[in-house]
Amino acid sequence: MVAYNNSLEFAKEKDSKDPLKSYREKFHIPVINGIETIYFTGNSLGLQPTSTKSYIDAELEAWKNWGVEGHFEAKKPWFAYHEFLTEKAAKIVGAKPIEVVVTHSLTTNLHLLMVSFYRPAGKRNKIICEKKAFPSDQYALETQARFHGFDPADVIVEVGPREGEHLIREEDVLATIAEVGDELAMVMIGGVNYYSGQLFDMESITKAGHAVGAKVGFDLAHAAGNVKLKLNEWGVDFAAWCSYKYLNSSPGGVSGLFVHERHANDKTLPRFAGWWGHDKETRFLMEPGFNPIAGAEGWQLSNAPVLGMAAHLASLDIFDEVGMDALIEKRTDLTNYLEYLVNDLSDRKGEQCSFEIITPKDPAKRGAQLSILAHGMGKSLFDAITKLGVIADWREPNVIRIAPVPLYNSYEDCYRFCEALEKAIN
Ligand SMILES: *Cc1c(COP(=O)(O)O)cnc(C)c1O
Repeated sequence: MVAYNNSLEFAKEKDSKDPLKSYREKFHIPVINGIETIYFTGNSLGLQPTSTKSYIDAELEAWKNWGVEGHFEAKKPWFAYHEFLTEKAAKIVGAKPIEVVVTHSLTTNLHLLMVSFYRPAGKRNKIICEKKAFPSDQYALETQARFHGFDPADVIVEVGPREGEHLIREEDVLATIAEVGDELAMVMIGGVNYYSGQLFDMESITKAGHAVGAKVGFDLAHAAGNVKLKLNEWGVDFAAWCSYKYLNSSPGGVSGLFVHERHANDKTLPRFAGWWGHDKETRFLMEPGFNPIAGAEGWQLSNAPVLGMAAHLASLDIFDEVGMDALIEKRTDLTNYLEYLVNDLSDRKGEQCSFEIITPKDPAKRGAQLSILAHGMGKSLFDAITKLGVIADWREPNVIRIAPVPLYNSYEDCYRFCEALEKAIN
């Protein structure tokens, strides 16, 4: 166990030894009402890299100078723009380039993938997901079930925390998969739970799903760019993620999707198609008869929104330079430090206001996020820290979600966050 201590000096010392410390300068840290914020919501919207503007400007310039000819004449021809992102995105999720494409938005991609991988047949029609999944995922699953003519209540099986607990026990997920058995068509779970920050063992969930003959997919909105992913090795069937949370690629930014190589070339898989998923050689012949491109690219519908893709590329270049291993090493220590500080404050303030971190204590079972139950104080505490320059996330009735992001958050941010919390309590 590393010895931490609760002093500004210690935090500054940690920062000075941080091999990634220079990356903070590559991001715009919001200054609100003259205060440089302590930005702990990179799990909701990542900060803007200082390089993003030049990536977007380059495409605006190409559009200005070339008009439609930019599809072929731009430095990064728009015709193939998504291809500039594939390899870098694939590295982040532990996939082969053939298995990944950056396209559309997250919920759109989940639907497109479920068209291919939720194929109820006979009694095999059930879906396992986590209880209180992110609302968009719930709506997607519910309407996928209806699309196939089912009442969602009959086919969706939710696994939640046990009575009095906050986290979902992995053993309960695995037991439910085994129990539903040959009625299970698909497992679709958030790899990192958006509310609790719990990281699931995606490999064992995938194996358990496959053991009963089901397909297994993950929503990686809170996992991509945050935790180690090995989608290819784990044998995951499909996955999708957004680029605007840990991946810092602009509000509502483009999404990535993954289709395992064992499916990626299967042209017989049902899918909803568009021209951009059609064989590149014959796409512009505009002839009837859809012939998908081999690989994940075959799930694309439309030509790429180049400005959004440029913002994503700016960020992917940073991830490529740093690498997930270095990021995860800092993330683990930074999150542990913040956890230590919150617990220390809670111990000292016990009677007035105590904090219970519901996120798993084991660093191998979480990413950057800590979800804190504030006992004894509610929204007023949150409003007070907001006034002190903290940008965090509040969930009714009393949960504060914070995420120290290794690319741009510092140990001093963690210290100052707890200092603000203490001031607010006092
Ligand atoms: C952020 C998030 C979404 C958002 O979906 P969009 O289609 O990008 O709006 C969906 N699901 C989960 C689990 C998320 O965390």
